[in-house]
Amino acid sequence: MYDVIVIGAGPAGCTAAKALAEKGFRVLLAEKCRMPRYKSCSGQLIQKSIDLVQRYFDREVPRSAMCTPTENRGMIFTSDRRKEYRFQQEGLNIWRSSFDHWLAERAEEAGAEVRDGAAAISCTQDSKTAMVTLRSGKVYTETARYLIDCEGVVGTLKRKLLLTDGTPPYIMTFQTYNRGRIDLDHHYFHAYLQPELSQYDAWFNVKDEMLVLGVSVPVKDRGKIAPYYQRFIDYMEKNHCLKIGQQLKTDQWLMPHILPGCPIDYGIGRVLFAGEAAGFLNPMGEGISAGLESGYCAAQAVMEHFDSMETVLPGYRERTAPLHDYMKRQWRFVAGIADTFSHMK
Ligand SMILES: Cc1cc2nc3c(=O)[nH]c(=O)nc-3n(C[C@H](O)[C@H](O)[C@H](O)COP(=O)(O)OP(=O)(O)OC[C@H]3O[C@@H](n4cnc5c(N)ncnc54)[C@H](O)[C@@H]3O)c2cc1C
Repeated sequence: MYDVIVIGAGPAGCTAAKALAEKGFRVLLAEKCRMPRYKSCSGQLIQKSIDLVQRYFDREVPRSAMCTPTENRGMIFTSDRRKEYRFQQEGLNIWRSSFDHWLAERAEEAGAEVRDGAAAISCTQDSKTAMVTLRSGKVYTETARYLIDCEGVVGTLKRKLLLTDGTPPYIMTFQTYNRGRIDLDHHYFHAYLQPELSQYDAWFNVKDEMLVLGVSVPVKDRGKIAPYYQRFIDYMEKNHCLKIGQQLKTDQWLMPHILPGCPIDYGIGRVLFAGEAAGFLNPMGEGISAGLESGYCAAQAVMEHFDSMETVLPGYRERTAPLHDYMKRQWRFVAGIADTFSHMK
């Protein structure tokens, strides 16, 4: 019997597990993949994420997680009216596989039991406990007083617990890693909101000298992703002298489609959702800071309300209110400068 089982070793899950374990709670952190695992991500750590790592993990982001150019100087985005906005801010460029693995190691160091290769497949709860069925070769059940579900975007457990039918609104991302040349500054993350290039956003960034180019569409329009990508490449060739020598790899992923008002699913009963599983995601897909912060808030809420299940979710909602307000402000801000997101006003 654990005090808390945390599902998913991303930023949200590792932060929750570390915060609880270091306070003496008996924690299991279950991750379906073998660590270090791949996560499609531009890997831009904004200043807020860097500060949160320092605050929650008492360490600086390790050099071993960084890729070149290590220093990210901010974001430049081109609005749907082709107006360029430059947001200067010191950040870091990291590989998520190494970064998340390092976070999980910190959780383990704090006393959490980290079990990778263990996928949560279902969950039930009663007035005293939550029970999770895990699959790692064999299928077995673990029991805890609370469950913090940090599964990321798809949220298999969450959908089972909330008994939701159908596909939640997702954004599908597609990006390629290439050898080549371009006349853009490699130290910035470049985002493009012109509707002819993508139905959501298109982007360019650099990781270990690979040029990363991506586009995204609502999942219902997944068939349009290849033509959008081709239009984006044509645009970058014409406007930024892009020359691709060799395409090294491609990846496709999902992100939550954030709706007006930025609704959050806090949880149900003894189960708290954190990170993308709860719906925390900032514009342009900045979700690491939201994962770290909501994971920490979930852990704090469990600690504070351990013996009172009725107050844990209201407590969690209260703790994440500043994060939720920040998220809504960020979306309103983007809505003000690009019609693509005007529905988010
Ligand atoms: C293309 C792309 C680019 C992005 N770029 C950036 C960026 O530059 N900066 C930024 O801040 N954010 C970025 N994001 C968003 C960011 O990656 C996410 O918001 C963030 O990873 C969410 O953290 P999380 O902990 O909630 O979930 P995740 O990081 O997704 O972690 C969830 C974990 O749960 C595991 N899991 C899932 N289901 C189960 C299960 N049933 N049982 C056990 N384990 C399970 C997964 O394997 C995973 O390890 C990007 C996203 C995409 C798709």
